[in-house]
Amino acid sequence: MSRPSLRPALAELPPYVPGARSPVGAAAFKLSSNENPYPPLPSVMAAIADAAVDVNRYPDMYATELAEALGEMLDVPAASIVPGCGSVAVLGHVLAAFCDAGDEVVLPWRSFEAYPIAITLVGAVGVRVPVGDDGRLDLPALAAAVTPRTRVVLVCTPNNPTGPAVRADELETFLDAVPEDVVVVLDEAYVEFVRDPLAPDGLAVLAARPNVVLLRTFSKAYGLAGLRVGYAVARPRLAAGIRVASTPFGVSHVAQLAALASLRARTELMTRVDAVVKERGRMLTALRDQGWTVPDSEANFVWLGLGDHATAFAERCARAGVLVRPFAGDGVRVSVGEPEATDLLLEVAAGHTPR
Ligand SMILES: *Cc1c(COP(=O)(O)O)cnc(C)c1O
Repeated sequence: MSRPSLRPALAELPPYVPGARSPVGAAAFKLSSNENPYPPLPSVMAAIADAAVDVNRYPDMYATELAEALGEMLDVPAASIVPGCGSVAVLGHVLAAFCDAGDEVVLPWRSFEAYPIAITLVGAVGVRVPVGDDGRLDLPALAAAVTPRTRVVLVCTPNNPTGPAVRADELETFLDAVPEDVVVVLDEAYVEFVRDPLAPDGLAVLAARPNVVLLRTFSKAYGLAGLRVGYAVARPRLAAGIRVASTPFGVSHVAQLAALASLRARTELMTRVDAVVKERGRMLTALRDQGWTVPDSEANFVWLGLGDHATAFAERCARAGVLVRPFAGDGVRVSVGEPEATDLLLEVAAGHTPR
């Protein structure tokens, strides 16, 4: 009997593992998905409710109003903005726009677990470059991994799940070394949480380098993870190509209006980001005081390089009422959320031999 065969490449991919969710009825702090711990603002909820009356219609396919508002905020033409159904989807469209089957995509590893999946699905070949023991990207090694087959290099800054951001000077050296016909994607999903004065200004980098594409999202700082809206920023010619590769009507009307309302409430939302950054500082300091070696974090999470103890530590956290994200054999990523959740995490960490 014959039957449809799945692409062999799929079998080699680990499935994307979502952060643990608490069982219905059980109270637990969810520090496993880098979500924003705050509920939506009343103004954003009102925009979502207002959008409901139009859901029998298709949304504005190109999210025109949102692209214009983002263009204005970032001081780039609206034609440079490509919204999509979360920046993970936009990354897939970027790869689809630049990669043919067999082309190479250079990426840091360990980094965002969606990368290998997105690369494989477009038929490209991922070339992994190890992240340093300090959790920092090795930009010289990423540049050295570029070959004539390379079409795209992914630079996750701050790096998920380890936390550090790249520095402006090392990024410049890197970009000087990468051929101008290779696309460099700066994944800035956590850019609003960055406080390191040495970190790059992605928009200035984009202005100076026609081969750079920025990825940003409303999922983290803006607290709209459940509505799925992210975007690319690129030169209009590249943006037009990414738009061609995009899922039609990929951003729902509800998501478009919620994102617009969030931009209007930006000041208030960035105050919440400040609070998360402060809590991140408290978590990092307390862990280091306990003797842990923790990479600097410029994002809304911290990384514990627990190696073989990762899974057991995550289980201990879950029993204490905090869900964290283990990467078996490697480490545990803890999102920064409610101060009570930090306290619980610190209690578990205090009872474990520091790493
Ligand atoms: C969370 C995250 C994203 C954003 O994902 P969305 O699809 O926009 O929710 C993108 N890149 C990285 C590195 C992330 O951690």
